[in-house]
This record gives sequence, C-alpha cells and structure tokens, in this order.
Amino acid sequence: MIICRSSEELKQHLPDKDTDNYSVGFVPTMGALHQGHISLLNCAKKKTAFTVVSLFVNPTQFNDPEDYEKYPRNIDTDLNLLERNGCDLVFIPSYEDIYPQGVADKTYDLGNLDKVMEGPSRPGHFNGVAMVVHRLFELVEPTDAFFGEKDFQQLAIIKYLVTSLNLSITIHGCPILRENNGLAMSSRNERLTSEQREEAAVIYATLKEAREQWNRFSSTDELKGFVINKINDNPYLQVEYFELVDANTLQELVDIANANEAVGCVAVYAGNIRLIDNIRFYS
Ligand code: AMP
Repeated sequence: MIICRSSEELKQHLPDKDTDNYSVGFVPTMGALHQGHISLLNCAKKKTAFTVVSLFVNPTQFNDPEDYEKYPRNIDTDLNLLERNGCDLVFIPSYEDIYPQGVADKTYDLGNLDKVMEGPSRPGHFNGVAMVVHRLFELVEPTDAFFGEKDFQQLAIIKYLVTSLNLSITIHGCPILRENNGLAMSSRNERLTSEQREEAAVIYATLKEAREQWNRFSSTDELKGFVINKINDNPYLQVEYFELVDANTLQELVDIANANEAVGCVAVYAGNIRLIDNIRFYS
C-alpha cells in the first residue's frame, strides 16, 4: 500500500491515465475508520482498478470547535486496517494541500439541498464538505467516488455538486453498515459511553418499526410524532429532527400517500454526541 503525505507525492504515485482499464476509485474519509468505511473501500475495489482512500479531518465542516478538537484520530490503526483490506493508496494531505490559499470564502451552489435537515443546525457544514471534496477530486482525479448512504443528505449534495461543476466522476452511494444492535456505525460512536451505545439502538429500531407499521399512520405528522416520541421516551436520547423527505429533492413530504420515494432522516443527541441515521420507506 502506498502512503502519500502530500499532493506532490500523490501526483507521483497515481496510475498513468494511459494504462489499460484505467479507473481510480476514491473514498474520502476523516479517518477513525470502522467497517462502514471499509465497506466503501470494498465497493470501490469491485468497481475500479486502483483504490485511493484519503484521511483528513476537515476543519471547515465542523461548526462546533469542540467537536473538531475531540474528533477521534487514529492514523496508525487506520493505515493498518486499510493495508489489511487491500487499499492501493492512502492520501493524508496537509492542511496546505487542501487549502493552499487558506480558507478563502468559497461559496458553492448546492441547489438548496443544504437548507434542510442538517443545514439549519450546522451552518456552513455542507459548504465545508463541498470545499474539501472538490479539492480532493482535483488532486486525486478519480473516475469514481464512493460515499455512504448513512450521510444521505451529503450524498445528495455531492451528486448535485458533481453535476453542477460538470465533473466526469461517477458517484456511488453505498449501504449503511450497522453495529450488531442496529446502531449505524460512526467514528463518533467511540465517544459514547457503553450505556449510550447500547441505548442508541432504539434509533434504528424505531425507524424500522415506523416503516413496518407504515399503513397505520394517517398523516406524515402522525408518523413523525411516533418516531420522535418513541426515541425521546428513552432517557439517554433527544431527537433534534426527524424528517420524511423525497429521496431526490430532500423536500419534506406532506402527503403520506406519495411516499413511494421517501426517506426518513433523523438526528439524535446522546449526551452531547450527535448521531444521524436514516431509512428508506420504499424498497
Ligand atoms: P466520515 O469519515 O465520517 O466523513 O465518513 C466517510 C465516508 O464514510 C462517508 O461517505 C460516510 O457516509 C461513510 N460512512 C460513515 N459511516 C458509515 C456507515 N456506517 N456505513 C456506510 N458508510 C459510512
């Protein structure tokens, strides 16, 4: 496995574009890797000839400085995991590689997809994501890039970004990997206490129950109320939002009868750790 710690090194080690079957599959991450990240690498390995994973904790996408400070960083463990799972190249850029001019105020058109759900409570978050992903795309020049459906809104925004910037990169969404109790895997889970981690299983259990009992709700408000109350009944958890949205436009669904492309997205606090999850209401 090749390890590149600067964009200069990266340039020297990317495969030659003239090689037969040239394809580069890219998985951007913030490190503290778990099996969810590895599942993206596995998707990339199936679809492309050469795989690149980046590790960069991007300051511009954190709106809470404490969350940035406390974000877990385990480069050695990450490298070990990537090597064992057959990654071809790991890119660990410096801050200057990503922000050569410092953090200039670059504002992206995100088609208003950034205005809902995560948007209001995390101002600037998706613009920060757009900055880092766009810059990483410029440096890695992938043919394909792989993102988790766990961050459903992020995935929709990246697809929009690639279309609006006219980049020829195929974006693949990969399914959510979960812990045994159903909690969506996340680097932030490491910061939960063992009780919080156990109790947070209620989040996915409730989403599943809402989907299974879909027919008994007469309105989207009733369904939302069910999810929010059930999660809030758990003393370890506090819902920030639960939205039922159209999978493509991310606009809130008002009529439950039109929910054949609906996704239920939730953000929940366990103590001061913010967790997100989602479920499709269609197969
Ligand atoms: P992060 O390091 O949290 O920025 O995540 C890097 C990529 O891994 C993003 O595309 C995430 O959506 C994806 N990811 C994170 N957790 C999971 C999971 N549990 N299952 C699948 N993909 C995930």
